[in-house]
Amino acid sequence: MSQTVAVVGGGIVGLAHAWSAAQRGWKVTLFERHQRAQGATVRNFGMVWPIGQPPGQPLEVARVSRSRWLEFAKATGFPVQQCGSIHLAHRPDEWEVIQQFAELAPGLGYECSLLNAGEVHDYSSGANPQGLLGGLFSPMELGVDPRQAAAALANWLVEAHGVRICPGVEVGAVTPGPWVMVAGEKLAFDRVVVCAGSDFAALFPNDFANSGLINCKLQMLGTGPQPASWKLGPHLASGLTLRHYSNFQICPGLPALAGRIAAETPELDRWGIHVMASQPVDGRIILGDSHEYGEEITPFDQAVIDELMVRELHKVFHLPNWTITERWHGIYAKNPAGYTLRVDPLPGVSVSTGTGGSGMTMSFGIAEEFWSTRS
Ligand SMILES: Cc1cc2nc3c(=O)[nH]c(=O)nc-3n(C[C@H](O)[C@H](O)[C@H](O)COP(=O)(O)OP(=O)(O)OC[C@H]3O[C@@H](n4cnc5c(N)ncnc54)[C@H](O)[C@@H]3O)c2cc1C
Repeated sequence: MSQTVAVVGGGIVGLAHAWSAAQRGWKVTLFERHQRAQGATVRNFGMVWPIGQPPGQPLEVARVSRSRWLEFAKATGFPVQQCGSIHLAHRPDEWEVIQQFAELAPGLGYECSLLNAGEVHDYSSGANPQGLLGGLFSPMELGVDPRQAAAALANWLVEAHGVRICPGVEVGAVTPGPWVMVAGEKLAFDRVVVCAGSDFAALFPNDFANSGLINCKLQMLGTGPQPASWKLGPHLASGLTLRHYSNFQICPGLPALAGRIAAETPELDRWGIHVMASQPVDGRIILGDSHEYGEEITPFDQAVIDELMVRELHKVFHLPNWTITERWHGIYAKNPAGYTLRVDPLPGVSVSTGTGGSGMTMSFGIAEEFWSTRS
């Protein structure tokens, strides 16, 4: 008889674990406290972003995830855009860092190439041509609509993989056994995997007191649909983004670039602002973002952050329709020491969280890593 596993949480991390477990013959039950996932998984850019990972194991995990997204698309017809990405350089120090990365990157497993300003424009008319020096193109990035992906994945897991999904069911506790407590009832499983996202501390507060995990809040903006004839093409990132993802830390010019931004525009560092854009298939543009950590996080969004983001977005991107029709924030759990945090608080019970700003990029690979070592 198959072994049973309960997955707690129906965000991308929980769904990824459900998929990998079901493929290995586990009988999977997934509990999600909301009727539909409402956490970071539906609030993001929908960027599958291997280029942002540091070389070595993280980049490899991102590659595994990428191929799993394409497998999901092939099996279901769900739109996964193979759009790639461009980091834009509008300042000489940004161009220098991008050139340094392009030189070092192939030896480290990245696929990318330099574009001059004209070539950038051939790929995307979303780049502001004013002052544009060039860009770094990577073909590896994918685009998924975050508002559709979790629901489509959940439906497919039910239909094609026999996963039992229990929406609107909150797990109140996980106890030795392991037992899962639901509405006062004790349910027995052979294994439990808790993928509760930024609520990481609720079920096992003691284990997380010293885990180093920290929550991060991001403010986001969305435009209405762009004209049907206009496409963003690749995801776009700005020169500000070079100081955000750890892959660029291999570039000797990065400290000077970060220093220049800190001196010129300290308000951007204050709110952790860099700017990026993606376009889901319905034509709207998802824009962001900012970063506020830990105790700084409040339920209240700051108008000043939105204003600064809009200011910076206009400097580097060009959109036919700049009307902001949606504003929201999302919160993710980040493990500052790695691409995920996995702890085993009880025999047969694991917690998988801490994917930070890369959960859409890494979760499928993280789940494969986990289940390939479990029998
Ligand atoms: C604004 C923003 C932009 C981002 N952009 C990107 C991007 O473009 N690319 C990328 O790779 N990553 C991105 N990320 C990061 C990515 O979205 C997260 O890393 C990822 O979604 C985390 O997934 P999760 O499943 O751990 O958490 P969540 O999506 O928060 O899911 C956790 C789920 O667990 C459920 N849950 C919690 N406790 C219980 C319980 N006791 N019982 C039942 N259910 C429970 C919650 O309801 C929730 O649905 C972004 C994040 C944000 C916030």
